[in-house]
Amino acid sequence: SGVTADSLLDGLNPQQREAVTYRGPALLIVAGAGSGKTRVLTHRIAGLIASREAWPSQILAITFTNKAAAEMRERVGALLGGAAEGMWISTFHSACVRILRREAEHLGYTQSFTIYDSADSKALIRRIVKELEADLLGFTVPSVQGRISKLKNELVDPDEFSRQASDRDPRDAMFLDIYRRYERELRRANAFDFDDLLGQTVTLFRAFPEVAAKYQRRFRHVLVDEYQDTNHAQYALIRELTKRVEPKDVPLDTRTELDAEGGIEGASLTVVGDSDQSIYAFRGADIRNITDFERDFPGARVVLLEQNYRSTQNILEAANAVIRNNFDRVDKKLWSADGAGEKIVGFTGYSGHDEAQFVADEIHRLHDTGVAYGEMAVFYRTNAQTRALEEIFIRSAVPYRLIGGTKFYERAEIKDVVAYLMATANPADELATRRILNSPKRGIGPATETALWDFAQKRDVPFREAMRRVDEIGLGPKVTRAIVELTRLLDETAAALDPDRPTGAATVGETVHALVAGSRYLEVLMASGNPQDEARAENVEEFVNVAKEYDKNNPDGSLVEFLTEVALVAAADELDDESGSVSLMTLHTAKGLEYDTVFLTGIEEDLIPHRMAAQEPGGAAEERRLFYVGITRARRRLYLTLAMTRAQFGESAVAMPSRYLDEIPTELIDWRVSPLDATSRGGTQPRALNARRGEWEGRGGRRPVGSEAYSTAGGYGRVGPGDAEARPQGERGYSSVRFRDADAGRE
Ligand code: ATP
Ligand code: MG
Repeated sequence: SGVTADSLLDGLNPQQREAVTYRGPALLIVAGAGSGKTRVLTHRIAGLIASREAWPSQILAITFTNKAAAEMRERVGALLGGAAEGMWISTFHSACVRILRREAEHLGYTQSFTIYDSADSKALIRRIVKELEADLLGFTVPSVQGRISKLKNELVDPDEFSRQASDRDPRDAMFLDIYRRYERELRRANAFDFDDLLGQTVTLFRAFPEVAAKYQRRFRHVLVDEYQDTNHAQYALIRELTKRVEPKDVPLDTRTELDAEGGIEGASLTVVGDSDQSIYAFRGADIRNITDFERDFPGARVVLLEQNYRSTQNILEAANAVIRNNFDRVDKKLWSADGAGEKIVGFTGYSGHDEAQFVADEIHRLHDTGVAYGEMAVFYRTNAQTRALEEIFIRSAVPYRLIGGTKFYERAEIKDVVAYLMATANPADELATRRILNSPKRGIGPATETALWDFAQKRDVPFREAMRRVDEIGLGPKVTRAIVELTRLLDETAAALDPDRPTGAATVGETVHALVAGSRYLEVLMASGNPQDEARAENVEEFVNVAKEYDKNNPDGSLVEFLTEVALVAAADELDDESGSVSLMTLHTAKGLEYDTVFLTGIEEDLIPHRMAAQEPGGAAEERRLFYVGITRARRRLYLTLAMTRAQFGESAVAMPSRYLDEIPTELIDWRVSPLDATSRGGTQPRALNARRGEWEGRGGRRPVGSEAYSTAGGYGRVGPGDAEARPQGERGYSSVRFRDADAGRE
């Protein structure tokens, strides 16, 4: 291809060029939103490869979401005209899983380890808290989980904790017990929790320098986006990866250039970030990682970017005006050459539904003027706000996609099926096995489970072994048979994964099918007659499709790899730009993204700033940064909407406009009145409209086809067969799955 390092500099400003071409051990790029930080990273990678300074395999780029990684890989590929194979562009978690899958044996794990997501570790903690009767001391499952997670992000293991804790404090002693047991159980189950993926990789590198050296030699260029949101474990990982390789760890046959002492110099490190967009302190992210960069990496070059290429001047002025109210920051002013642009539109509805209706109407109006649905996004602070939005969007036939929220993979029925897979791939996974013991119902109650567990404890055998030896336990014949059948199903399905079978290894799709059919899981759901079970059955079928899709896209894929992907699908991964639908997501998920039109909804006190979050130390400032992140996602149009009353815990409460609205100069906002004030809309009086709304809300939010409905386009009409399923079908395989909300209305 005709790419040259020079042509990659076209269309960059002088500061950006400097950031792309600088060569040295460490480079920090700090700049406000939309100033081209991510773009600079992308061009820098492409430049290194185009100039033949680096092979693709020598590059490790870290992004915040898998989706951002996919985008970066695509862009680099486009800049180079292909040839981006072998580059590691991924999230911290994915990179760590790849390393751990190769090196797990050093840590006493097998390569088919399970990854516990938040709900899995919650289940494990619940059991431990119960067994130790820690609830009597006031320990709750979420508090324990939060504390363990925080400690792991700080790389504090139980031993380290016991050194720090006071041995007088019975609560500390109890917590230590819980933490120890939790770690032991994870290890027994050959499982890592999410925080372990990072922490255990650091542990691995520190304990086995020769293993670390492999990666230190391999990655000559490490680049990290959104550096302001790295926590201590991530910071430590970066430090390990960019360390110099000591001569003793350099293998004889190395082809990497040696320094004067016979070692290999550390990788060059590039990080980009914006301390005004740090929004993950609650998860242990530490802004100091950015502010201390120059101290940690002496001689580092710092590049500042000032011009914003994303938004209009009006939007930037609003953003500047808001963030200015945070103390303790370096003032930087974003400017744009784009012109003032349209005013920000403000809207106050009577209720959350009214607000949502306004958003839906505006989306249709903009779409009629040529704005693609995929170029519009609706953000909110809490997931609970999606209910009203979704109801109205379905009713108004706005094609939308929910990103994050009640995630597909967190649904009970999907977790059940995944647990079947985990128990098949990793028989040591006791949690997964116990989860499916009586799901679907096969008459195995808690007493039986305890009997199995006791047997396992007494004989010191794994839980699955106890199941295999169920005959020795002396349970009733029916229960015994049920356990024998389940064990056989799991064992036979596992045996089918053997590549040496005459017919070859079973594919992921075949495995899922074998388990779902063999356990009668789907059959039982479909036979129940309960509409919620019907929706659950649909989700399971969708998952079966996901697995088949996986087979198609990954002919050499394995069950373990599939489970890794399932575990790593993070909120933003369900995103699909190309699809013609409006994106709905939380403000946290929106980081790094940009849209032509952005609706920031629920701009009310207690929502943003969020009541709970604002009470944390530094929480108020972090909430403001979150609002700033939201504003700066918009390219051309920004809406700020709120409601006068909002449903909370099933009751309607008065809502107050957010203080942040006062921080935006009034001349920037064009306030609109609630359309319910105008009687012109479809000729409907507010009262009548509300009565109708109440009517259908009472049905749990799902309109039967043929029923009367209010639609923006045609006033009252009948729901057509297509209307109820306005939610578009995912196109990109399993990371964008469609599912039905079996639990709607349960919140
Ligand atoms: P955030 O802080 O939100 O992550 P960012 O600093 O990473 O923002 P980018 O996403 O890289 O910013 O860039 C914002 C937008 O501006 C993108 O659409 C990008 O393509 C565009 N852009 C950046 N630099 C230039 C430039 N020199 N010329 C034209 N467009 C640019
Ligand atoms: Mg960015």
